[in-house]
Amino acid sequence: MNKNGGRVHTRFPPEPNGYLHIGHAKSICLNFGTAEEFGGLCNLRFDDTNPSKEETEFVESIKEDVRWLGFTWEDRLFYASDYFDQLYEFAVQLIKQGKAYVCDLTAEQIREYRGTLTKPGKESPYRNRSIEENLDLFTRMKNGEFSDGAKVLRAKIDMASPNLNMRDPVIYRIMHERHHRTGDKWCIYPMYDFAHPLSDALENITHSICTLEFEDHRPLYDWFVDNLITGDKPRQYEFARLNLTKTITSKRKLRRLVEEGYVQGWDDPRMPTIAGYRRRGYTPEAIRDFCNRIGVAKANSTVDIALLEHCLREDLNLKAPRVMAVLDPVKVVITNYPEGQIEKLEAENNPQDPEAGYRQVTFSRTLFIEREDFMENPPKKYFRLSPGKEVRLKHAYIIKCEHVVKDEEGRVIEIHCTYDPDTKSGGPAAGRKVKGTLHWVSEAEAIDAEVRLYDYLFLDDEPQDNQDGEDELEDRFEDELNEKNEEVDDFLSKINPHSLKVLKNCKVEPLLKNALPGSKFQFLRQGYFCADLKDHSSQTPVFNRIVGLKDSWAKANRK
Ligand code: ATP
Ligand code: MG
Repeated sequence: MNKNGGRVHTRFPPEPNGYLHIGHAKSICLNFGTAEEFGGLCNLRFDDTNPSKEETEFVESIKEDVRWLGFTWEDRLFYASDYFDQLYEFAVQLIKQGKAYVCDLTAEQIREYRGTLTKPGKESPYRNRSIEENLDLFTRMKNGEFSDGAKVLRAKIDMASPNLNMRDPVIYRIMHERHHRTGDKWCIYPMYDFAHPLSDALENITHSICTLEFEDHRPLYDWFVDNLITGDKPRQYEFARLNLTKTITSKRKLRRLVEEGYVQGWDDPRMPTIAGYRRRGYTPEAIRDFCNRIGVAKANSTVDIALLEHCLREDLNLKAPRVMAVLDPVKVVITNYPEGQIEKLEAENNPQDPEAGYRQVTFSRTLFIEREDFMENPPKKYFRLSPGKEVRLKHAYIIKCEHVVKDEEGRVIEIHCTYDPDTKSGGPAAGRKVKGTLHWVSEAEAIDAEVRLYDYLFLDDEPQDNQDGEDELEDRFEDELNEKNEEVDDFLSKINPHSLKVLKNCKVEPLLKNALPGSKFQFLRQGYFCADLKDHSSQTPVFNRIVGLKDSWAKANRK
């Protein structure tokens, strides 16, 4: 920590070519969190060196997501494109030092010449152009005299290096494309590998934290910085990418899900994007807790999504008020309860939170329970409702099933019960015990709601082939040189066709009508739910299931 006078300055450097996902959340927590911990600073920097892939929509969404996670970059918002002039000057300096040259080989030839891990590369025939010729050609590249791909600028390092990244990498390419910030000013753009380390250096970054697949790029980054920068230099630290079971963590793949219509958008509640999680009802506290618990590792591995869900339940358990909601209703008639009578019963809002208080729920002669909470011919040890059996209605009375009414097809349409008036809270038989307790909503006060139940978009534990980010990195460089990607990963064939189930006729407590979009509840016995940020209104209440109540992670890890 004595380097840089003990100063800690990190940055989070997303490429604005998609929405952030849970892997980025880990990187955000690490970069902003490390700065916070050591009294340092963290910049937000958009690595916007590839004009063909980047859009302002993504810039805005990324800012919103970082803020939502609870971090601030204050006035330190930067763009790699802020440095285009400076980077151009750096390239000119390299040429003048005899350490860069203009090369006319095609992208395909460059690749051929590069060699492999076992075979050294071959020098480009253009490698020994004079400094004057290189300066002239590079200026003319900048001035737009050549077409896309006709020429590139390459660093002159070592075609026999065991590290492929050091074999005369491309540092500038021609792209006649409008850039979201610099417009038509440039028709040559720096490669990520050139722009990234130098942007770090220009911002006086001390700890350049990145994922493991960049480890082999570190010698190249150091080479650029050593040749062009004097004074303190950023030092790169690599950590393992986050991989989550049942989850795709690659912007390029997530982008295909959106663009090819497999989901309804980047913020579809099934997406592992920050925007998707937010809409689904995840909390920033839970995501940060998760990122802290998984910590930083030096080896790639896959984390069980059950841990993320566990963090979420822990957070929601404390915060989410309890309400009753019947998702698949069947009618119950209490035959010995007077017609037209209603009464208010007291219901606890959250047993985990003494401050949460009580509300009133209305009891009436007809009410709704879950269809699956009744069985006409139950197996042994079935403690829900069945003919001749008793259950307690939560916050209310014990009822007994006397009779069942069916339609012509034999489907149960009404369950006739009697209630025991002595069994409500405070009544003479309040303490009488029965095995089952059911949630319910009275017909007198129920409102209709739509409920959306989500399952994993992928049921496979490892739906993406690459767990190390290498493919992603390769795609990125291919994109930069405008080469065609050949998608070999068949992740699209693994999509779960039943990831969304919409229930239209749910009966819920009336207070849910006025729930603010984004507010969260525990529906008793059903899980945690969130009023949808886009579609919920008092006319048409819509709730997303965030997560069920059963905690497989806690269960597996209980001592
Ligand atoms: P993707 O591979 O999904 O396209 P990326 O690496 O291209 O993502 P960037 O926008 O370059 O996306 O990422 C910004 C930062 O987030 C980088 O420092 C990158 O290392 C980090 N990051 C990306 N994915 C993960 C992940 N799965 N786990 C941890 N950090 C990640
Ligand atoms: Mg990547």
